[in-house]
Amino acid sequence: MGKKVKKKQKLKKRAGKKKKRTKKPYLVSKLFKVEGTAVKRLRKYCPVCGSGVFLAEHEDRWSCGRCGYTEWKKIKVKAKSK
Ligand SMILES: [Zn+2]
Repeated sequence: MGKKVKKKQKLKKRAGKKKKRTKKPYLVSKLFKVEGTAVKRLRKYCPVCGSGVFLAEHEDRWSCGRCGYTEWKKIKVKAKSK
């Protein structure tokens, strides 16, 4: 696997074009909110993967992109319960 380095150098030379970055950088600051000295977490942690792995928030559920864990939000079930 010693040839890999050579290949990398070749790629570096070719990369003269500037690519437009359309992807926004993942903002960690979005996940936390600092209030004075306390840090508030705005996202849920995955109970399977442990703290550090956030759950992606969806309209009706939270899901973990690592293990696939899904936690459903408590939604008012559309039923005639009057
Ligand atoms: Zn997980």
